[in-house]
Amino acid sequence: MNKKISIACALLASTLLAADAPQDGYEVHDMKRPQPVVVTPGEPSTQDKAGTAPSDAKVLFDGKDLSQWSTEKGEDAQWTLVPGDHFEVKPHTGVMRTRDEFGDVQLHIEWREHPDVKGESQGRGNSGVFLMGLYEVQVLDNYGGHETYADGSAGGIYGQYPPLANVSRKPGEWNTYDIIFHAAKLKDDKSVAEPARVTLIWNGVLAQDNMSLIGPTMHKQLTTYPTTMPDKGPLVLQDHGNVVDYRNVWIRELKQELPKPPVRSNGSEK
Ligand code: MG
Repeated sequence: MNKKISIACALLASTLLAADAPQDGYEVHDMKRPQPVVVTPGEPSTQDKAGTAPSDAKVLFDGKDLSQWSTEKGEDAQWTLVPGDHFEVKPHTGVMRTRDEFGDVQLHIEWREHPDVKGESQGRGNSGVFLMGLYEVQVLDNYGGHETYADGSAGGIYGQYPPLANVSRKPGEWNTYDIIFHAAKLKDDKSVAEPARVTLIWNGVLAQDNMSLIGPTMHKQLTTYPTTMPDKGPLVLQDHGNVVDYRNVWIRELKQELPKPPVRSNGSEK
């Protein structure tokens, strides 16, 4: 069965089951609950070889080309492609952004400092992953005693939260970022209903634990939310004038409604 037909069948099955579901909710172990959607996992990366994306992810870079990316103005991406492996920041050509825009997502991205990285503090291998183009998860070389201000170090939410741990691999080795992001939501009166939230697993270690962001990323300034916020934005990678490599980039939009808890014990009367 091809992928489209199989997704259509899964949707039809879940619709039929949902139609059969009790109005007030499920009981514990309820057989009427739809089965979880089947997703085939990707292969994990090794230092020598990039892994692959899960079956339902949008692949943003798998070594082939930069077709999913553009400059800030929408022109073809300027950064350097190393075919079959990675791409790297071409300093002073500007950011790279995805052509598509995203709201709530699970993002996987891998980055690597060059073995000959130079400079100190914010000048040492600086790039960054901007969710919705607004919130920066910092990319920097903090391996081996190279320090900067804590809320600007690798794994930090720039200007807001240092990472819970410095999980830096040494220059020349690949780091993985797995990020869960929820966009900010505003009320009708423009006040914040829900701040943006970020969870970051860095090289398998929890570095940001469902952190509520105080606003879009700012430099030196205490940020706050503006009175209008987009629902979606591009994923943006920062050109901070330093060469940094990226590979194996994929994203899953989090559109599924979260399951609700059961309302009755198994087998009990309504
Ligand atoms: Mg940066």
